[in-house]
Amino acid sequence: MSELPGTGVGRGVALGPVLRMPEPLGAPSSAPLDGPVEAADAAVHEAVAAVADDLTKRGALAGGDAQAVLEAQALMAQDPTLLDDVHTRISGGANAERAVHDAFAAFQDILAAMGGYMGERAADLGDVSQRIIAKLRGVPAPGVPDSDTPFVLVARDLAPADTALLDLDKVLALVTSDGGPTSHTAILARAKGITAIVGVEGAADLVDGQTVVVDAAAGVVVTDPDPDLVTATEARIAERLAAADRPVTPGALADGTLVPLLANLGNPADAAGAVALGAEGVGLFRTEFLFLDSPTAPTVEAQRQAYVQLLSVFPGKKVVVRALDAGADKPLSFLTDQDEENPALGRRGLRALRHHEAVLRDQLTALVQADAETEADLWVMAPMVADAEETAYFVSLARELGVRTAGVMAEVPSLALLAEQVFQQADFVSVGTNDLTQYTLAADRLLGSVASYQDPWHPAVLRLVAQLGAAGRDAGKAVGICGEAAADPLLAVVLVGLGATTLSMTPAALADVRAELGQHTLEQAREMARAALAAPSAAAARAAATSAHVV
Ligand code: PEP
Ligand code: MG
Repeated sequence: MSELPGTGVGRGVALGPVLRMPEPLGAPSSAPLDGPVEAADAAVHEAVAAVADDLTKRGALAGGDAQAVLEAQALMAQDPTLLDDVHTRISGGANAERAVHDAFAAFQDILAAMGGYMGERAADLGDVSQRIIAKLRGVPAPGVPDSDTPFVLVARDLAPADTALLDLDKVLALVTSDGGPTSHTAILARAKGITAIVGVEGAADLVDGQTVVVDAAAGVVVTDPDPDLVTATEARIAERLAAADRPVTPGALADGTLVPLLANLGNPADAAGAVALGAEGVGLFRTEFLFLDSPTAPTVEAQRQAYVQLLSVFPGKKVVVRALDAGADKPLSFLTDQDEENPALGRRGLRALRHHEAVLRDQLTALVQADAETEADLWVMAPMVADAEETAYFVSLARELGVRTAGVMAEVPSLALLAEQVFQQADFVSVGTNDLTQYTLAADRLLGSVASYQDPWHPAVLRLVAQLGAAGRDAGKAVGICGEAAADPLLAVVLVGLGATTLSMTPAALADVRAELGQHTLEQAREMARAALAAPSAAAARAAATSAHVV
Protein backbone atom coordinates (compact mmCIF):
# COMPACT_ATOMS: atom_id res chain seq x y z
CA MET A 1 0.00 0.00 0.00
CA SER A 2 1.12 3.53 -0.55
CA GLU A 3 -0.64 6.83 0.10
CA LEU A 4 -0.86 9.66 -2.43
CA PRO A 5 -2.03 12.92 -0.88
CA GLY A 6 -4.17 15.53 -2.66
CA THR A 7 -7.04 17.94 -2.05
CA GLY A 8 -10.25 16.05 -1.26
CA VAL A 9 -13.55 17.38 -2.60
CA GLY A 10 -16.43 16.40 -0.31
CA ARG A 11 -16.50 13.45 2.11
CA GLY A 12 -17.02 10.53 -0.21
CA VAL A 13 -15.04 7.32 -0.23
CA ALA A 14 -14.68 4.86 -3.10
CA LEU A 15 -12.90 1.62 -3.90
CA GLY A 16 -12.24 0.24 -7.34
CA PRO A 17 -9.92 -0.30 -10.30
CA VAL A 18 -8.16 2.58 -12.02
CA LEU A 19 -9.04 3.53 -15.58
CA ARG A 20 -6.93 6.30 -17.04
CA MET A 21 -8.19 8.99 -19.33
CA PRO A 22 -6.50 8.76 -22.75
CA GLU A 23 -3.75 11.26 -23.30
CA PRO A 24 -4.62 14.23 -25.50
CA LEU A 25 -4.35 13.91 -29.29
CA GLY A 26 -0.83 14.15 -30.66
CA ALA A 27 0.23 17.57 -31.92
CA PRO A 28 -0.75 18.20 -35.54
CA SER A 29 1.94 17.98 -38.20
CA SER A 30 3.66 21.12 -39.42
CA ALA A 31 3.35 20.10 -43.08
CA PRO A 32 2.34 23.09 -45.19
CA LEU A 33 -1.22 23.48 -46.41
CA ASP A 34 -1.97 21.07 -49.19
CA GLY A 35 -4.96 22.44 -51.12
CA PRO A 36 -6.92 25.66 -51.41
CA VAL A 37 -7.26 28.07 -48.46
CA GLU A 38 -11.05 28.21 -48.94
CA ALA A 39 -11.40 24.44 -48.50
CA ALA A 40 -9.31 24.48 -45.29
CA ASP A 41 -11.30 27.45 -43.97
CA ALA A 42 -14.55 25.67 -44.73
CA ALA A 43 -13.37 22.49 -42.98
CA VAL A 44 -12.47 24.50 -39.88
CA HIS A 45 -15.83 26.28 -39.84
CA GLU A 46 -17.65 22.98 -40.19
CA ALA A 47 -15.63 21.41 -37.37
CA VAL A 48 -16.13 24.45 -35.12
CA ALA A 49 -19.89 24.43 -35.72
CA ALA A 50 -20.08 20.71 -34.96
CA VAL A 51 -18.07 21.09 -31.73
CA ALA A 52 -20.13 24.09 -30.58
CA ASP A 53 -23.30 22.17 -31.30
CA ASP A 54 -22.05 19.13 -29.42
CA LEU A 55 -21.05 21.21 -26.38
CA THR A 56 -24.40 23.00 -26.34
CA LYS A 57 -26.25 19.68 -26.53
CA ARG A 58 -24.17 18.20 -23.73
CA GLY A 59 -24.91 21.33 -21.69
CA ALA A 60 -28.66 21.00 -22.22
CA LEU A 61 -28.45 17.35 -21.14
CA ALA A 62 -26.44 18.16 -18.04
CA GLY A 63 -28.33 21.33 -16.92
CA GLY A 64 -27.38 23.45 -13.89
CA ASP A 65 -23.83 24.77 -13.40
CA ALA A 66 -22.53 22.41 -16.11
CA GLN A 67 -24.78 23.94 -18.73
CA ALA A 68 -23.36 27.42 -18.14
CA VAL A 69 -19.79 26.07 -18.34
CA LEU A 70 -20.42 24.15 -21.57
CA GLU A 71 -22.25 27.01 -23.20
CA ALA A 72 -19.30 29.25 -22.39
CA GLN A 73 -17.06 26.69 -24.09
CA ALA A 74 -19.32 26.61 -27.14
CA LEU A 75 -18.94 30.39 -27.36
CA MET A 76 -15.15 30.10 -27.03
CA ALA A 77 -15.11 27.68 -29.96
CA GLN A 78 -16.79 30.28 -32.15
CA ASP A 79 -14.87 33.32 -30.94
CA PRO A 80 -14.43 35.53 -34.04
CA THR A 81 -10.97 36.81 -33.00
CA LEU A 82 -9.72 33.26 -32.67
CA LEU A 83 -11.26 32.19 -35.98
CA ASP A 84 -9.71 35.23 -37.69
CA ASP A 85 -6.36 34.13 -36.32
CA VAL A 86 -6.92 30.58 -37.65
CA HIS A 87 -7.75 32.03 -41.07
CA THR A 88 -4.63 34.22 -41.06
CA ARG A 89 -2.48 31.20 -40.27
CA ILE A 90 -4.10 29.12 -43.05
CA SER A 91 -3.61 31.98 -45.51
CA GLY A 92 0.03 32.02 -44.40
CA GLY A 93 0.41 28.37 -45.44
CA ALA A 94 -0.40 26.39 -42.26
CA ASN A 95 -2.55 23.26 -42.55
CA ALA A 96 -5.97 23.46 -40.89
CA GLU A 97 -5.13 21.35 -37.80
CA ARG A 98 -1.88 23.23 -37.20
CA ALA A 99 -3.59 26.61 -37.64
CA VAL A 100 -6.28 25.70 -35.06
CA HIS A 101 -3.70 24.27 -32.67
CA ASP A 102 -1.41 27.32 -32.84
CA ALA A 103 -4.16 29.95 -32.72
CA PHE A 104 -5.76 28.37 -29.66
CA ALA A 105 -2.38 27.82 -27.98
CA ALA A 106 -1.50 31.50 -28.42
CA PHE A 107 -4.77 32.53 -26.83
CA GLN A 108 -4.31 29.98 -24.03
CA ASP A 109 -0.91 31.51 -23.22
CA ILE A 110 -2.52 34.92 -22.85
CA LEU A 111 -5.16 33.55 -20.46
CA ALA A 112 -2.61 31.53 -18.50
CA ALA A 113 -0.44 34.63 -18.03
CA MET A 114 -3.44 36.44 -16.54
CA GLY A 115 -3.55 33.79 -13.79
CA GLY A 116 -6.43 33.23 -11.36
CA TYR A 117 -9.86 32.60 -12.78
CA MET A 118 -8.84 33.46 -16.35
CA GLY A 119 -5.80 31.21 -16.03
CA GLU A 120 -7.99 28.27 -15.10
CA ARG A 121 -10.13 28.96 -18.21
CA ALA A 122 -7.02 28.25 -20.32
CA ALA A 123 -7.59 24.52 -19.74
CA ASP A 124 -11.14 24.90 -21.07
CA LEU A 125 -9.78 26.47 -24.24
CA GLY A 126 -7.29 23.63 -24.69
CA ASP A 127 -10.18 21.16 -24.54
CA VAL A 128 -12.10 23.05 -27.23
CA SER A 129 -9.03 23.07 -29.48
CA GLN A 130 -8.60 19.28 -29.07
CA ARG A 131 -12.22 18.69 -29.96
CA ILE A 132 -11.94 20.76 -33.14
CA ILE A 133 -8.74 18.99 -34.19
CA ALA A 134 -10.35 15.58 -33.54
CA LYS A 135 -13.26 16.59 -35.78
CA LEU A 136 -10.85 17.71 -38.53
CA ARG A 137 -8.95 14.45 -38.16
CA GLY A 138 -12.15 12.40 -38.17
CA VAL A 139 -11.34 10.66 -34.86
CA PRO A 140 -13.39 10.60 -31.62
CA ALA A 141 -12.83 13.53 -29.28
CA PRO A 142 -10.58 12.70 -26.36
CA GLY A 143 -12.71 12.04 -23.32
CA VAL A 144 -13.84 9.65 -20.63
CA PRO A 145 -13.11 6.04 -21.63
CA ASP A 146 -15.94 3.53 -21.98
CA SER A 147 -16.13 0.55 -19.65
CA ASP A 148 -18.76 -2.02 -18.83
CA THR A 149 -17.78 -2.07 -15.18
CA PRO A 150 -17.37 0.74 -12.62
CA PHE A 151 -13.97 2.39 -12.31
CA VAL A 152 -11.97 5.16 -10.65
CA LEU A 153 -11.23 7.70 -13.35
CA VAL A 154 -7.66 9.01 -13.25
CA ALA A 155 -6.74 11.98 -15.42
CA ARG A 156 -4.36 14.88 -15.69
CA ASP A 157 -7.41 17.14 -15.45
CA LEU A 158 -10.94 16.83 -16.70
CA ALA A 159 -12.50 19.16 -19.20
CA PRO A 160 -15.84 20.59 -18.10
CA ALA A 161 -17.49 18.75 -20.99
CA ASP A 162 -16.28 15.46 -19.54
CA THR A 163 -17.10 16.17 -15.90
CA ALA A 164 -20.58 17.39 -16.76
CA LEU A 165 -21.65 14.17 -18.41
CA LEU A 166 -19.88 11.59 -16.27
CA ASP A 167 -21.91 8.43 -15.98
CA LEU A 168 -22.29 8.32 -12.22
CA ASP A 169 -23.14 4.61 -12.30
CA LYS A 170 -19.74 3.89 -13.84
CA VAL A 171 -17.41 6.47 -12.36
CA LEU A 172 -16.81 5.60 -8.71
CA ALA A 173 -14.48 8.54 -8.12
CA LEU A 174 -12.22 11.06 -9.82
CA VAL A 175 -8.51 11.50 -9.23
CA THR A 176 -6.64 14.25 -11.06
CA SER A 177 -3.01 15.24 -10.92
CA ASP A 178 -3.70 18.86 -11.90
CA GLY A 179 -6.42 21.20 -10.75
CA GLY A 180 -6.87 23.14 -7.55
CA PRO A 181 -9.87 23.72 -5.33
CA THR A 182 -11.32 26.26 -7.79
CA SER A 183 -10.85 24.21 -10.96
CA HIS A 184 -14.02 23.25 -12.78
CA THR A 185 -13.35 19.62 -11.95
CA ALA A 186 -13.58 20.41 -8.25
CA ILE A 187 -16.59 22.73 -8.57
CA LEU A 188 -18.61 20.34 -10.71
CA ALA A 189 -17.59 17.28 -8.69
CA ARG A 190 -18.80 19.05 -5.56
CA ALA A 191 -22.08 20.07 -7.19
CA LYS A 192 -22.71 16.54 -8.49
CA GLY A 193 -21.61 14.85 -5.29
CA ILE A 194 -18.84 12.84 -7.00
CA THR A 195 -16.09 11.56 -4.74
CA ALA A 196 -12.97 13.36 -5.95
CA ILE A 197 -9.40 14.22 -5.06
CA VAL A 198 -7.63 16.86 -7.15
CA GLY A 199 -3.98 17.88 -7.28
CA VAL A 200 -2.66 14.35 -6.57
CA GLU A 201 0.99 14.57 -7.56
CA GLY A 202 1.54 10.81 -7.75
CA ALA A 203 -1.52 10.22 -9.94
CA ALA A 204 0.64 9.93 -13.04
CA ASP A 205 2.02 6.61 -11.72
CA LEU A 206 -1.38 4.92 -11.32
CA VAL A 207 -2.00 2.23 -13.91
CA ASP A 208 -5.14 0.75 -15.45
CA GLY A 209 -6.65 -2.04 -13.37
CA GLN A 210 -4.76 -1.17 -10.17
CA THR A 211 -7.09 -1.14 -7.13
CA VAL A 212 -7.25 2.10 -5.16
CA VAL A 213 -9.18 3.56 -2.23
CA VAL A 214 -10.16 7.18 -2.84
CA ASP A 215 -10.78 8.80 0.55
CA ALA A 216 -11.87 12.38 -0.12
CA ALA A 217 -12.44 13.14 3.56
CA ALA A 218 -8.80 12.31 4.32
CA GLY A 219 -7.56 13.74 0.99
CA VAL A 220 -5.63 10.60 0.12
CA VAL A 221 -5.55 7.89 -2.56
CA VAL A 222 -4.35 4.53 -1.19
CA THR A 223 -2.94 2.16 -3.79
CA ASP A 224 -3.25 -1.63 -3.56
CA PRO A 225 -5.12 -1.59 -0.21
CA ASP A 226 -4.68 -4.56 2.14
CA PRO A 227 -7.72 -6.73 3.01
CA ASP A 228 -8.38 -4.86 6.27
CA LEU A 229 -8.57 -1.51 4.50
CA VAL A 230 -10.77 -3.01 1.77
CA THR A 231 -13.21 -4.32 4.42
CA ALA A 232 -13.22 -1.03 6.33
CA THR A 233 -13.77 0.93 3.12
CA GLU A 234 -16.63 -1.31 2.02
CA ALA A 235 -18.26 -0.76 5.40
CA ARG A 236 -17.93 3.03 5.02
CA ILE A 237 -19.42 2.92 1.53
CA ALA A 238 -22.34 0.80 2.77
CA GLU A 239 -22.94 3.20 5.65
CA ARG A 240 -23.02 6.20 3.29
CA LEU A 241 -25.51 4.43 1.04
CA ALA A 242 -27.68 3.51 4.02
CA ALA A 243 -27.55 7.11 5.27
CA ALA A 244 -28.67 8.39 1.86
CA ASP A 245 -31.71 6.08 1.99
CA ARG A 246 -32.82 7.09 5.48
CA PRO A 247 -35.68 9.59 5.63
CA VAL A 248 -34.35 13.13 5.83
CA THR A 249 -34.62 14.53 9.34
CA PRO A 250 -34.09 18.19 10.32
CA GLY A 251 -30.44 19.10 10.86
CA ALA A 252 -29.63 18.59 14.55
CA LEU A 253 -26.80 17.84 16.94
CA ALA A 254 -26.76 14.59 18.94
CA ASP A 255 -28.42 16.35 21.91
CA GLY A 256 -31.33 17.54 19.74
CA THR A 257 -30.10 21.13 19.26
CA LEU A 258 -31.59 22.11 15.90
CA VAL A 259 -29.25 23.45 13.20
CA PRO A 260 -31.34 24.11 10.08
CA LEU A 261 -29.54 22.94 6.95
CA LEU A 262 -30.16 25.24 3.99
CA ALA A 263 -29.19 25.32 0.32
CA ASN A 264 -26.97 27.67 -1.63
CA LEU A 265 -28.65 28.27 -4.99
CA GLY A 266 -28.00 30.39 -8.07
CA ASN A 267 -31.07 29.53 -10.11
CA PRO A 268 -34.73 28.92 -9.15
CA ALA A 269 -34.68 25.84 -11.41
CA ASP A 270 -32.39 24.08 -8.92
CA ALA A 271 -34.72 24.66 -5.94
CA ALA A 272 -36.78 21.47 -6.24
CA GLY A 273 -33.61 19.35 -6.46
CA ALA A 274 -32.32 20.97 -3.28
CA VAL A 275 -35.55 20.12 -1.45
CA ALA A 276 -35.21 16.51 -2.61
CA LEU A 277 -31.73 16.44 -1.05
CA GLY A 278 -33.15 17.65 2.26
CA ALA A 279 -32.73 21.43 2.14
CA GLU A 280 -34.84 23.00 4.89
CA GLY A 281 -34.85 26.34 3.08
CA VAL A 282 -32.36 28.55 1.26
CA GLY A 283 -29.46 30.18 3.08
CA LEU A 284 -27.97 31.95 0.05
CA PHE A 285 -29.60 32.74 -3.25
CA ARG A 286 -26.95 34.34 -5.47
CA THR A 287 -29.09 36.71 -7.56
CA GLU A 288 -26.16 37.94 -9.67
CA PHE A 289 -25.99 34.51 -11.34
CA LEU A 290 -29.33 35.31 -13.02
CA PHE A 291 -27.96 38.38 -14.74
CA LEU A 292 -24.30 37.65 -15.59
CA ASP A 293 -24.93 38.10 -19.33
CA SER A 294 -27.30 41.03 -19.00
CA PRO A 295 -25.99 44.22 -20.64
CA THR A 296 -28.49 46.37 -18.74
CA ALA A 297 -29.99 46.25 -15.27
CA PRO A 298 -32.88 43.77 -15.07
CA THR A 299 -36.38 45.21 -14.79
CA VAL A 300 -38.45 44.92 -11.64
CA GLU A 301 -40.85 42.65 -13.52
CA ALA A 302 -38.17 40.24 -14.79
CA GLN A 303 -36.80 39.98 -11.28
CA ARG A 304 -40.21 39.57 -9.65
CA GLN A 305 -40.91 36.56 -11.85
CA ALA A 306 -37.61 34.89 -10.97
CA TYR A 307 -38.07 35.49 -7.25
CA VAL A 308 -41.67 34.21 -7.29
CA GLN A 309 -40.39 31.05 -8.97
CA LEU A 310 -37.87 30.57 -6.17
CA LEU A 311 -40.03 31.52 -3.19
CA SER A 312 -42.98 29.39 -4.26
CA VAL A 313 -40.87 26.23 -3.77
CA PHE A 314 -40.48 27.02 -0.05
CA PRO A 315 -43.87 27.81 1.54
CA GLY A 316 -43.38 28.46 5.25
CA LYS A 317 -39.59 28.06 4.90
CA LYS A 318 -36.80 30.57 5.26
CA VAL A 319 -35.28 31.86 2.01
CA VAL A 320 -32.31 34.21 2.27
CA VAL A 321 -31.81 36.19 -0.91
CA ARG A 322 -28.63 38.16 -1.46
CA ALA A 323 -28.71 41.50 -3.26
CA LEU A 324 -26.61 41.52 -6.45
CA ASP A 325 -22.98 40.76 -5.61
CA ALA A 326 -21.25 42.24 -8.65
CA GLY A 327 -17.51 42.61 -9.06
CA ALA A 328 -14.26 40.63 -8.98
CA ASP A 329 -14.92 37.23 -10.61
CA LYS A 330 -18.62 38.06 -11.16
CA PRO A 331 -18.70 41.36 -13.05
CA LEU A 332 -22.09 42.71 -14.13
CA SER A 333 -21.75 45.22 -16.93
CA PHE A 334 -24.39 47.52 -15.44
CA LEU A 335 -22.77 47.65 -11.98
CA THR A 336 -19.04 46.93 -12.26
CA ASP A 337 -16.31 49.46 -13.02
CA GLN A 338 -14.24 48.06 -15.89
CA ASP A 339 -10.91 49.67 -15.10
CA GLU A 340 -10.16 48.50 -11.57
CA GLU A 341 -6.66 47.18 -11.17
CA ASN A 342 -7.58 45.00 -8.22
CA PRO A 343 -11.29 44.28 -8.49
CA ALA A 344 -11.49 42.00 -5.43
CA LEU A 345 -10.63 45.10 -3.41
CA GLY A 346 -12.70 47.41 -5.57
CA ARG A 347 -16.22 48.75 -5.69
CA ARG A 348 -17.98 45.41 -5.50
CA GLY A 349 -21.02 44.09 -3.63
CA LEU A 350 -22.86 46.70 -1.59
CA ARG A 351 -20.33 49.35 -2.61
CA ALA A 352 -21.41 49.04 -6.25
CA LEU A 353 -25.10 48.88 -5.34
CA ARG A 354 -24.83 52.02 -3.23
CA HIS A 355 -23.19 53.76 -6.15
CA HIS A 356 -26.08 52.66 -8.39
CA GLU A 357 -28.86 52.94 -5.84
CA ALA A 358 -31.63 52.76 -8.44
CA VAL A 359 -30.56 49.17 -9.23
CA LEU A 360 -30.70 48.25 -5.55
CA ARG A 361 -34.10 49.91 -5.11
CA ASP A 362 -35.48 47.99 -8.10
CA GLN A 363 -34.19 44.72 -6.74
CA LEU A 364 -35.62 45.25 -3.26
CA THR A 365 -38.94 46.32 -4.81
CA ALA A 366 -39.08 43.16 -6.91
CA LEU A 367 -38.31 41.04 -3.84
CA VAL A 368 -41.05 42.69 -1.78
CA GLN A 369 -43.54 42.14 -4.60
CA ALA A 370 -42.57 38.46 -4.89
CA ASP A 371 -42.79 38.10 -1.10
CA ALA A 372 -46.34 39.43 -1.14
CA GLU A 373 -47.38 36.77 -3.68
CA THR A 374 -45.80 33.76 -1.94
CA GLU A 375 -45.73 32.03 1.44
CA ALA A 376 -41.97 31.77 2.04
CA ASP A 377 -40.25 33.58 4.90
CA LEU A 378 -38.09 36.01 2.89
CA TRP A 379 -34.88 37.38 4.37
CA VAL A 380 -32.72 39.76 2.32
CA MET A 381 -29.03 40.48 2.81
CA ALA A 382 -26.30 42.64 1.32
CA PRO A 383 -22.87 41.32 0.21
CA MET A 384 -19.42 42.81 0.94
CA VAL A 385 -20.45 45.03 3.82
CA ALA A 386 -17.62 46.70 5.74
CA ASP A 387 -19.16 48.11 8.91
CA ALA A 388 -22.21 49.22 10.90
CA GLU A 389 -22.64 52.41 8.87
CA GLU A 390 -23.02 50.41 5.64
CA THR A 391 -25.25 47.96 7.50
CA ALA A 392 -27.50 50.80 8.65
CA TYR A 393 -27.67 52.14 5.08
CA PHE A 394 -28.77 48.80 3.64
CA VAL A 395 -31.15 47.82 6.43
CA SER A 396 -32.95 51.17 6.48
CA LEU A 397 -33.35 51.21 2.67
CA ALA A 398 -34.65 47.63 2.74
CA ARG A 399 -37.15 48.46 5.49
CA GLU A 400 -38.24 51.63 3.69
CA LEU A 401 -39.12 49.49 0.66
CA GLY A 402 -40.98 46.88 2.72
CA VAL A 403 -38.44 44.11 3.44
CA ARG A 404 -39.34 42.51 6.78
CA THR A 405 -36.04 40.83 7.66
CA ALA A 406 -32.83 42.53 6.53
CA GLY A 407 -29.27 41.53 7.26
CA VAL A 408 -25.72 41.57 5.98
CA MET A 409 -23.01 39.14 4.98
CA ALA A 410 -19.82 38.95 7.02
CA GLU A 411 -17.16 38.68 4.33
CA VAL A 412 -14.88 41.59 5.19
CA PRO A 413 -12.93 41.21 8.44
CA SER A 414 -13.81 44.77 9.53
CA LEU A 415 -17.46 43.75 9.80
CA ALA A 416 -16.66 40.81 12.05
CA LEU A 417 -14.43 42.99 14.25
CA LEU A 418 -17.38 45.36 14.73
CA ALA A 419 -19.94 42.60 15.22
CA GLU A 420 -21.74 44.13 18.24
CA GLN A 421 -22.29 47.41 16.38
CA VAL A 422 -23.51 45.52 13.32
CA PHE A 423 -26.09 43.51 15.29
CA GLN A 424 -27.57 46.78 16.60
CA GLN A 425 -28.62 47.45 13.00
CA ALA A 426 -29.10 44.10 11.27
CA ASP A 427 -31.73 41.43 11.88
CA PHE A 428 -29.17 38.73 11.09
CA VAL A 429 -25.67 38.11 9.78
CA SER A 430 -24.61 35.40 7.34
CA VAL A 431 -20.91 34.55 7.18
CA GLY A 432 -19.45 34.16 3.69
CA THR A 433 -16.41 32.14 4.61
CA ASN A 434 -15.04 32.14 1.05
CA ASP A 435 -14.47 35.87 0.96
CA LEU A 436 -13.89 36.17 4.71
CA THR A 437 -10.96 33.75 4.30
CA GLN A 438 -9.63 35.49 1.19
CA TYR A 439 -9.63 38.90 2.90
CA THR A 440 -8.38 37.68 6.28
CA LEU A 441 -5.43 35.81 4.78
CA ALA A 442 -4.91 38.35 1.94
CA ALA A 443 -4.92 35.55 -0.65
CA ASP A 444 -6.90 35.68 -3.90
CA ARG A 445 -9.46 32.87 -3.64
CA LEU A 446 -9.09 32.11 -7.37
CA LEU A 447 -5.31 31.94 -7.49
CA GLY A 448 -3.90 28.41 -7.43
CA SER A 449 -0.48 29.53 -6.18
CA VAL A 450 -1.95 30.80 -2.89
CA ALA A 451 -4.67 28.14 -2.60
CA SER A 452 -3.13 26.82 0.61
CA TYR A 453 -4.07 30.11 2.32
CA GLN A 454 -7.69 29.73 1.23
CA ASP A 455 -8.49 27.43 4.13
CA PRO A 456 -11.41 28.43 6.37
CA TRP A 457 -9.99 26.20 9.10
CA HIS A 458 -7.43 28.94 9.72
CA PRO A 459 -7.74 30.00 13.38
CA ALA A 460 -7.74 33.69 12.32
CA VAL A 461 -10.93 33.06 10.33
CA LEU A 462 -12.38 30.94 13.14
CA ARG A 463 -11.73 33.73 15.65
CA LEU A 464 -13.70 36.18 13.50
CA VAL A 465 -16.57 33.67 13.29
CA ALA A 466 -16.40 33.25 17.08
CA GLN A 467 -16.72 37.01 17.52
CA LEU A 468 -19.76 37.06 15.24
CA GLY A 469 -21.25 34.05 17.03
CA ALA A 470 -20.86 35.64 20.47
CA ALA A 471 -22.30 38.98 19.32
CA GLY A 472 -25.24 37.23 17.65
CA ARG A 473 -25.95 35.25 20.81
CA ASP A 474 -25.85 38.42 22.95
CA ALA A 475 -28.20 40.17 20.54
CA GLY A 476 -30.48 37.12 20.24
CA LYS A 477 -30.07 37.13 16.45
CA ALA A 478 -29.28 34.51 13.81
CA VAL A 479 -25.73 33.86 12.60
CA GLY A 480 -25.77 31.75 9.44
CA ILE A 481 -22.83 30.33 7.50
CA CYS A 482 -23.13 30.26 3.72
CA GLY A 483 -19.55 29.84 2.45
CA GLU A 484 -18.05 26.52 1.33
CA ALA A 485 -16.87 25.94 4.91
CA ALA A 486 -20.38 24.83 5.87
CA ALA A 487 -20.07 21.95 3.37
CA ASP A 488 -17.08 20.48 5.24
CA PRO A 489 -18.84 18.24 7.78
CA LEU A 490 -16.27 18.48 10.57
CA LEU A 491 -15.82 22.21 10.12
CA ALA A 492 -19.62 22.57 10.12
CA VAL A 493 -19.67 21.13 13.65
CA VAL A 494 -16.91 23.53 14.73
CA LEU A 495 -18.82 26.48 13.24
CA VAL A 496 -21.88 25.51 15.28
CA GLY A 497 -19.60 25.35 18.32
CA LEU A 498 -18.53 28.90 17.49
CA GLY A 499 -22.15 30.11 17.51
CA ALA A 500 -23.51 29.51 14.01
CA THR A 501 -27.28 28.93 14.13
CA THR A 502 -27.82 27.70 10.52
CA LEU A 503 -25.60 26.20 7.81
CA SER A 504 -26.09 26.70 4.08
CA MET A 505 -24.26 24.79 1.36
CA THR A 506 -24.28 23.23 -2.08
CA PRO A 507 -27.18 20.75 -1.84
CA ALA A 508 -25.02 17.69 -2.59
CA ALA A 509 -23.20 18.26 0.73
CA LEU A 510 -26.34 18.28 2.92
CA ALA A 511 -26.41 14.54 3.70
CA ASP A 512 -22.80 14.35 4.90
CA VAL A 513 -23.15 17.44 7.07
CA ARG A 514 -26.43 16.17 8.55
CA ALA A 515 -24.78 12.85 9.42
CA GLU A 516 -21.77 14.48 11.08
CA LEU A 517 -23.84 16.93 13.16
CA GLY A 518 -25.71 13.98 14.61
CA GLN A 519 -22.45 12.61 16.04
CA HIS A 520 -21.73 15.50 18.43
CA THR A 521 -23.52 17.34 21.23
CA LEU A 522 -23.43 21.13 21.51
CA GLU A 523 -20.97 20.87 24.40
CA GLN A 524 -18.69 18.64 22.30
CA ALA A 525 -18.98 21.04 19.33
CA ARG A 526 -17.90 23.88 21.63
CA GLU A 527 -15.00 21.80 22.90
CA MET A 528 -13.89 21.12 19.30
CA ALA A 529 -14.23 24.84 18.52
CA ARG A 530 -12.09 25.80 21.53
CA ALA A 531 -9.39 23.37 20.42
CA ALA A 532 -9.42 24.72 16.84
CA LEU A 533 -9.28 28.37 17.98
CA ALA A 534 -6.14 27.71 19.99
CA ALA A 535 -4.28 26.02 17.11
CA PRO A 536 -1.44 27.79 15.28
CA SER A 537 -2.46 26.88 11.70
CA ALA A 538 -5.35 25.62 9.59
CA ALA A 539 -3.96 22.09 9.50
CA ALA A 540 -3.38 22.11 13.25
CA ALA A 541 -6.91 23.43 13.84
CA ARG A 542 -8.38 20.57 11.83
CA ALA A 543 -6.27 18.05 13.72
CA ALA A 544 -7.11 19.60 17.10
CA ALA A 545 -10.85 19.56 16.39
CA THR A 546 -10.64 15.96 15.22
CA SER A 547 -8.93 14.76 18.37
CA ALA A 548 -11.04 16.95 20.70
CA HIS A 549 -13.98 14.65 20.07
CA VAL A 550 -13.34 11.31 18.51
CA VAL A 551 -16.64 9.64 17.63
C1 PEP B 1 -18.68 33.76 0.35
O1 PEP B 1 -17.92 34.68 0.03
O2 PEP B 1 -18.39 32.91 1.21
C2 PEP B 1 -19.98 33.62 -0.30
C3 PEP B 1 -20.84 32.73 0.13
O3 PEP B 1 -20.23 34.38 -1.39
P1 PEP B 1 -19.62 34.06 -2.86
O4 PEP B 1 -18.96 32.73 -2.78
O5 PEP B 1 -20.76 34.12 -3.78
O6 PEP B 1 -18.66 35.19 -3.01
MG1 MG C 1 -18.65 36.28 -1.22
